[in-house]
Amino acid sequence: MASTDVDVAGEVKAWLSEQWDPDLTVGEWWERLGTSGWAAPTLPESSYGRGLSREEAVRVQQAIVEFGALGAPGGLGLLLAAPTIATHGDTDQQERYIRAIVTGQAAWCQLFSEPNAGSDLAGLQTRAVRDGDEWVVNGQKVWTSGGQVADMAMLIARTDTDVPKHQGITYFALDMHQPGIEVRPLREMTGRSLFNEVFLTDARVPADAMIGGLNNGWAVANTTLAFERAGLGAGGGSAAGGAATPGSVAGDLARRAGDFVRNVNQRGAGAPGGMFGASEKLLIELARRNGSIDDPTVRQDLMRLHELNEIGRYMSLRQKALRSTGGDIPGLGNMAKLSMSQILRLSRDVGLRILGPLGTLFGYSAADRKALEEVTGEPGASMVVEMALFTQGPSIYGGTDEIQHNILGERVLGLPKEPNADKTTAFRDLPKNG
Ligand SMILES: Cc1cc2nc3c(=O)[nH]c(=O)nc-3n(C[C@H](O)[C@H](O)[C@H](O)COP(=O)(O)OP(=O)(O)OC[C@H]3O[C@@H](n4cnc5c(N)ncnc54)[C@H](O)[C@@H]3O)c2cc1C
Repeated sequence: MASTDVDVAGEVKAWLSEQWDPDLTVGEWWERLGTSGWAAPTLPESSYGRGLSREEAVRVQQAIVEFGALGAPGGLGLLLAAPTIATHGDTDQQERYIRAIVTGQAAWCQLFSEPNAGSDLAGLQTRAVRDGDEWVVNGQKVWTSGGQVADMAMLIARTDTDVPKHQGITYFALDMHQPGIEVRPLREMTGRSLFNEVFLTDARVPADAMIGGLNNGWAVANTTLAFERAGLGAGGGSAAGGAATPGSVAGDLARRAGDFVRNVNQRGAGAPGGMFGASEKLLIELARRNGSIDDPTVRQDLMRLHELNEIGRYMSLRQKALRSTGGDIPGLGNMAKLSMSQILRLSRDVGLRILGPLGTLFGYSAADRKALEEVTGEPGASMVVEMALFTQGPSIYGGTDEIQHNILGERVLGLPKEPNADKTTAFRDLPKNG
């Protein structure tokens, strides 16, 4: 579909004028949005999308917010599972899984990392063994974001130990509602529990839930990771939806859609708790209110922050222009993710400097945050401190900063790889931790 950003925004607003009704339930509204292609516009038209570019999709999200309607279901289903299944899944799988994602019926989590397999993801030890028409899965995953509200999981498991580690992995769509799965929340220093440990004991996956073919899981997982980097990086926009949580566990589907729009507007774009830190605008307002804007070093850092955000935006526009003529910028996703880490670190440092001693105070629950706000009279302080506490996360998930540098060095700049026997030695013969 060839269309300009302006056309896309106009088109989605015209559609919203006819379709948006705040008195629908969240589930009813997402059914309309998802089946229209506006929930996941970057997916192909054959997979409940509209074949738009990422930049056009950001315009669609902005148009929905400006119109005052509830946005698409957020989370890893829309960000990662849907585009991965659209790329590698067969027609039946696309219908079965993607429809439930874009209409918010199913929430997904990502069962990739293990206690001994993070950066070295291909060293994972969770096993899947064939048993008739099913696979039986045993092992442990960790850092599973949203595992406590997930209906389905993107699971990678070892299906062959006699071949080198990258060649014996298979990708499955796993039903999280079964006795063989135990989810244990982990509490983070922000006070929230965004992620979990997940224990798999004789969990079952039907054979037709294998995505992309037997022992081809490394290629499929890399598709997921590429979407993760592109979606999370600076200038890439995000798949963040409204404040409603998709899936059957959170309980939002039966609630009134219009009530979540008010919540979105109250929180403001870019609020921490989403993944993108305190916005430039929030920091400037805070600095103006407490007078620290008169400090030239604060002004200088706010300008640096603005520059980094603008560079991210220009890189994204440059990529768009190149792609329209069949070109590409190798490693842009990795660079965007590194840039996001840098933006968050700078936001944390200048944010805490603006707050001064107030930055040492934090409420670990909603009630504590409200009390703190009343005592200090500063509504933005909790957001800045929470962002500062969360800043360490994004430079780790989706591949750490060091791993992004390795990828850029080896695959983009062509530097020699670190010597290892991983590509030639059978997984069962590799030395392992623990
Ligand atoms: C907020 C958050 C959410 C997450 N959500 C999920 C999720 O939903 N699903 C999921 O599967 N995982 C998730 N993760 C896990 C994340 O993908 C891993 O933490 C990450 O891949 C790093 O793995 P690790 O923690 O095992 O660290 P390790 O791999 O043990 O790394 C430790 C340190 O060594 C460095 N290092 C390791 N190898 C190299 C190398 N070859 N060269 C140079 N330096 C190296 C790393 O950069 C790091 O500094 C999440 C993590 C966070 C922080």
